[in-house]
Order: sequence, then C-alpha cells, then structure tokens
Amino acid sequence: MKIEIFSSFDMGENCYIVTDEKSGESLIIDPGHFDGELKEAVESKNIKYILLTHGHFDHIAGVARVKKITGAKICIAEEDEICLHDDDENLSYLAGNVPIEKTSADIILNEGDKIVIGDTVLSVMKTPGHSKGSVCYICEAERVIFSGDTLFKKTVGRTDFKTGDINEMYATLKRLVSLDGDYDVLSGHGPETTLDQERHGNLYIRRMYKHYPD
Ligand SMILES: [Zn+2]
Repeated sequence: MKIEIFSSFDMGENCYIVTDEKSGESLIIDPGHFDGELKEAVESKNIKYILLTHGHFDHIAGVARVKKITGAKICIAEEDEICLHDDDENLSYLAGNVPIEKTSADIILNEGDKIVIGDTVLSVMKTPGHSKGSVCYICEAERVIFSGDTLFKKTVGRTDFKTGDINEMYATLKRLVSLDGDYDVLSGHGPETTLDQERHGNLYIRRMYKHYPD
C-alpha cells in the first residue's frame, strides 16, 4: 500500500491517495481542495473510491471535480451526507461562503464496512464527536488509521460545530485508545502521529484517563 499526501494551502487539510500496488487501484480520502498537483495525480491513477471522513467543506470541496474525472464512488456516513449538497451543513461560511459544488453519496457507510482495492482493505469505524457522521478508516494489515478531524497529534477536532458533541468525542476516543496495539495515525490536518503517542500525550485522552496505563 502506497500513501501520498496532498495538503491544501489555505486550510492545511490533508488529502490522501492510497494505492494498492498489486492491482494498481487507488482510493482518495478527503479531497478538500483541487489544484493542479492533485488534478495531475488523480488523472494518472485508477481511483475507485472517494472516501470522506466527514462532510465539512474543507474535506469535500474537491469531491465533485474528482468524481467527474474518475467516476469513483463517493462514500460517506449517512449523518454527514447532507453536507455534500447543503452549504449550511458543510460550514462553507467559514471560508467566506464560497459555494461547494454539489454532489451526493454513492455508498452510505456503516460501522464495520470494508472498502477493498486489490489486497488493500480499509474498515470503517464510526467516530462521532467532531461531527455526527465522522468516521475513521482503519487498515489493519498496514496498521494505519486515517482519522479525519477526530484525532490529531496531541489534540482532537473541535466539537462546537453544528453536529459536534464533546461527550460523543470522549466515547469515540475511548474506542480508539482501546484498539489493540499501535497504529500510525494520519490526520485530517497537521502532522502524522501514532496511537501510542496519543495514548500518552493527547490532552483529551489524558484528561479522560489521568495516566493511560502502560
Ligand atoms: Zn471538520
């Protein structure tokens, strides 16, 4: 599995393209922008799925363009699907009300769903807190979590937006830290981290556990 990162200039949002080397198939996670570099990458790959960690504008603004080029299936949880065609819900006012090109889901994601390209399998974990329909994508074989705006290095996503909920965030964090073993964590903004680093160094997780047991 090959992972490429494309960060947006303005919002610092991380878009990932995951390629299964054996089949040559790819998927794209959170195309929140669309510039020349991303266009070139998208056109040169065989992208089967557009996976969304949630529906905020800075994670979906490039979805319609990627869909047009690739015909890939747009996947999002039901609770955030409305964001694909409602600018009040995707919070585009935070970017000066720039309209987001409307799309809709091809696949509604549920807990435990598996997205497969060749030998690469990503499982869906529903992780409400930042938004009601937030999800993480977990690759067990490669020990990677694409965490969207749920988990960041040392912190978590805001819970004060429309469908955010701090109590749901804490419940989500409990589920994430109780996964077995360590994972690389690739977030929706900012640098890469690991689940172990966050078990010990994340402000919100430390607030829950005081000291996470070694
Ligand atoms: Zn967000």
